[in-house]
Amino acid sequence: MAEIHLKKLAHSYSANPKFTSEYAIREMDHVWEQGGAYALLGPSGCGKSTLLNIISGLLSPSEGEVLFDGERVNDLTPSQRNIAQVFQFPVIYDSMTVFDNLAFPLRNMKVPESKVKKKVFEIAEILELQDVLHNKAKNLSADEKQKVSMGRGLVRDDVSAILFDEPLTVIDPHLKWKLRRKLKQIHEQFNITMVYVTHDQLEAATFADKIALMYDGNIVQFGTPRELFEKPNHTFVGYFIGSPGMNFIEVARCAGGVEFAGITFPVDAGIQDILDQVPTDNLKLGIRPEFVHVCAESIEGSFECDIKHIEDLGTYKIITLDLKGRTLKARIDEDQQIPEHKVYVSFPKQWLKLYVDEYLIEGDS
Ligand code: ATP
Repeated sequence: MAEIHLKKLAHSYSANPKFTSEYAIREMDHVWEQGGAYALLGPSGCGKSTLLNIISGLLSPSEGEVLFDGERVNDLTPSQRNIAQVFQFPVIYDSMTVFDNLAFPLRNMKVPESKVKKKVFEIAEILELQDVLHNKAKNLSADEKQKVSMGRGLVRDDVSAILFDEPLTVIDPHLKWKLRRKLKQIHEQFNITMVYVTHDQLEAATFADKIALMYDGNIVQFGTPRELFEKPNHTFVGYFIGSPGMNFIEVARCAGGVEFAGITFPVDAGIQDILDQVPTDNLKLGIRPEFVHVCAESIEGSFECDIKHIEDLGTYKIITLDLKGRTLKARIDEDQQIPEHKVYVSFPKQWLKLYVDEYLIEGDS
């Protein structure tokens, strides 16, 4: 297994890119440590597959380097890089049995047959394929085929890394959680560097120790699922992570902090120093719906809101509120009783985040 280092890496599909918008991957420096379980998360078109294909060697980057354990691999073929890749759709030999499909990558490496057998049985057991080991792959269900495809990626324990490109897309929804757990189990057992591409935040959070969130060709934040939730460093992260995403309210500078519609939000001295230095007026306050405090009665520091809409989602409710002309979402427990038309909201200071030109600013108080 290897540490993967992307050094000043950029990629454009156009031969002579003239504008930054022509880059699928914008210049980035990023390290995936040896043995980690990582997710590469982001919306469609943000560059996830491009990045994965550059790491595996299926695509040559227009700029920068890919290093495995400090060694440049740009000029190595995919097989020389010793990377296993599992794709969205099954890549298996239909005419072979499940056993032979799983054994294929090992036999290709001239692994002794006794070890092949041991390894194939081990992976088949984890993926619950024992009962179909001697069936022809063409007779399998779509789920089973994808499990075999995953098994082919997982069967070798000498690989530098395993890359998964949305491997559960074709899997039946009720089986997905089970396979996610299996992949996690395999990672814990074999400790191989794994990078898992997905656009599904739940999939990313259950699989990965750390998530790299991509947006428009950049990794905007790299952190634990909790860090991305509690401290999004960019408005996009706040918006993309969470359901619904973070609330953002445009604010203006005022004495002692920022304000909107006559409501002042004081800021710490460190943040005030930064605010004094930045010329932009693109200022937003962000707060997660989960952290908006909702009360039936007015309390100190609370603001009256009209209720626009209530969505009852069984175990919790999402309320859409109007706070002095701004829309705000709050998440409350199913059993919290609230009046029909009006509530009072307050914002715990530690969960109120200030964004300048879309980036989080923090300061020492
Ligand atoms: P998805 O989740 O939909 O697969 P993604 O995040 O994996 O998306 P990429 O497929 O890497 O994104 O695409 C990144 C950008 O590069 C997109 O604008 C896409 O249109 C463009 N792109 C991808 N492949 C090619 C290609 N072969 N030729 C030209 N442009 C491409």
